Amino acid sequence: MLFKEIVFGPIHSRRLGVSLGINLLPSHSKLCNFNCIYCECGWNTNDGKKVFNTRSDVKNALEKKLIGMQTSAKFPDSITFSGNGEPTMHPEFSEIIDDTISLRNKYAPTAKISVLSNATMIGKPNIVAALQKIDNAILKLDSGITETAVLINKPQFDYSINQVIEYIQPLKNKMVLQTMFLRGMYDGQQIDNTTETEVAAWIDAIQKINPREIMIYTIDRETPASGLQKISFDEMEKIAERARKLGYKVQTAK
Ligand code: SF4
Repeated sequence: MLFKEIVFGPIHSRRLGVSLGINLLPSHSKLCNFNCIYCECGWNTNDGKKVFNTRSDVKNALEKKLIGMQTSAKFPDSITFSGNGEPTMHPEFSEIIDDTISLRNKYAPTAKISVLSNATMIGKPNIVAALQKIDNAILKLDSGITETAVLINKPQFDYSINQVIEYIQPLKNKMVLQTMFLRGMYDGQQIDNTTETEVAAWIDAIQKINPREIMIYTIDRETPASGLQKISFDEMEKIAERARKLGYKVQTAK
């Protein structure tokens, strides 16, 4: 499923309420430095084109939409960067965040600004600084074990959980951690990030990260990899309960 428009929705998000989406990535294909086996945008393509929506197009599209929504009953709870890939890969991501904060303050002061990110670019000072300015930096961590994360997220570069945890430190206490729990077979390998070993490593990682909030979820739509299974709501709740006992606020979504 690809988003054709720069500003899309609003849609009702399981986690964010009425959410107005912003897609900084190409409309014709997905662009991400991960290639998650469950990605709702499908697999990465190899067309080699990094065609981002321009800063001015994003600003104009958002302003037009927010003006049009002034009398709408569905006024956004969140202006959410998601779309066809990883938003922080946009070369003018931090400037676009500044534009969005100005537009939000002018037209939708009660809306939160949220960014869904795979947390791989936050080693860059300008990206982490931009994420520090917004309300919800929602960062993905699908396992506390690097080998499992590599199987699930298929990063297009050397990836290490410890490195990501280190990058996240400036956002400690502020960011929202997001984890997809699933199991199944992919490429001849069994994947299950709900085993005792996995959950213990995940708990260890969240204690190092200390997020403001945790969102856990499971598969909701068709996945590019066949052979994956969603986990039950009860299983998610059991995992959530372990984190809640440590004092974390945890939201589970069916
Ligand atoms: S990080 Fe997000 S956009 Fe990128 S492959 Fe994974 S689910 Fe898809």
